Amino acid sequence: MNRIKPFEKKIWLASPTMHGEEIKYVTSAYETNWMSTVGENIDKVEEQIAKKIGIKNTVALSSGTAALHLAVRMAGEKLYGKPRAGHGSLEGHRVFCSDVTFAATANPITYEGGELVFIDTEYDTWNMDPEALEKAFEIYPDVRLVVVAHLYGTPAKIDEIRGIAKRHNALIVEDAAESLGASYKGRQTGMFGDYNCISFNGNKIITGSAGGMLLTDDLEGANKARKWSTQARENAPWYQHEEVGYNYRMSNVIAGVVRGQIPHLEEHIEQKKAIYERYKEGLNDLPVKMNPYDVDNSEPNYWLSCMIIDKDAMCKQVRGEQDVLYISESGKSCPTEILDTLAKYNAEGRPIWKPMHMQPIFRNNDFITCGGSSRAKSNAYIATKCTDVGMDIFARGLCLPSDNKMTAEEQDVIIKLIHECFK
Ligand SMILES: *Cc1c(COP(=O)(O)O)cnc(C)c1O
Repeated sequence: MNRIKPFEKKIWLASPTMHGEEIKYVTSAYETNWMSTVGENIDKVEEQIAKKIGIKNTVALSSGTAALHLAVRMAGEKLYGKPRAGHGSLEGHRVFCSDVTFAATANPITYEGGELVFIDTEYDTWNMDPEALEKAFEIYPDVRLVVVAHLYGTPAKIDEIRGIAKRHNALIVEDAAESLGASYKGRQTGMFGDYNCISFNGNKIITGSAGGMLLTDDLEGANKARKWSTQARENAPWYQHEEVGYNYRMSNVIAGVVRGQIPHLEEHIEQKKAIYERYKEGLNDLPVKMNPYDVDNSEPNYWLSCMIIDKDAMCKQVRGEQDVLYISESGKSCPTEILDTLAKYNAEGRPIWKPMHMQPIFRNNDFITCGGSSRAKSNAYIATKCTDVGMDIFARGLCLPSDNKMTAEEQDVIIKLIHECFK
């Protein structure tokens, strides 16, 4: 390994890639003085994303998390009515939610006072397991809301999940923050749920430096979200309020960046796909697999390339709440060894998003596998069918450097470093 030199310029997991048009639209916001949460960039971005996704209404917001908050509040009010001031729309109600996801999927349900019940993951796409979801409805038949994320840009088993939700009269909030541009049976993610969200955070497939958007076919809902996002002002000459509002609207400056990025979405996906394919090819002699997707029905956006190590090729690795230990072993490796090695050579990988049911904040929330409620079993390290698939993927998987500015030569070095870990 001594022959390999650390990268002079850090290789990122995923960083913003600008093209030039962004600054043009930002400048036009400046020069026309629309330095506000109103302006042409916002209108254009809403229009263009609606067209791209194939959805009727879009509301540009300050973040994907804000979009999710408005989406789950909307769903809650639709299901349970308007709450009293100071109360959330989901108070006293359970909500089913993806388990292996970023915390921003789950947190907005908590903002609205909902009780999260996490649904285990399946191995085919690393997303919500429809079998576990069905089980969850057996255990909690009153639940009426399912929040489902598409991890790392790979569409979940949408038809199955929609079918189950429909049978149980439940609404769906789709978290497509990581999957903008990914499609399932020819339709874009972000249009399958009742209220959906995307994100323009700095590390997403396209970015505004920040920002997000709520997507829905429900015109009334979209108008309400727009109102809530601008402090819920009523139509009166003075500040008049009947509902709780937020300052969640997207800035016209940020929208300028997003507007400049939208024409490059497909190009970014192409680059990310090439990175995924090159890893797949370069690692195919090792006891590892890439993050899987439904080849027949879906086309991911390949936002992050990830890998999972075969069970019998795992070296010993023990994770506490903050620290991790592993024992290096010839012919084997583990995520920590690979991440440490990449870091040593100035490349950024990341562990798989730690399952929500294993986060201390959610330790009392229920967690449903395809075998039923499995709170008691969730420390199981090696998963068999129906025991904590999410923790198994977390233990054996990792996200690889997936920056679309990484060259083929740089990626070859990363592939070589991973091989060294298994020697
Ligand atoms: C990034 C992300 C979000 C939040 O988006 P922000 O724009 O950063 O608020 C939500 N869900 C998932 C799955 C994400 O990856």
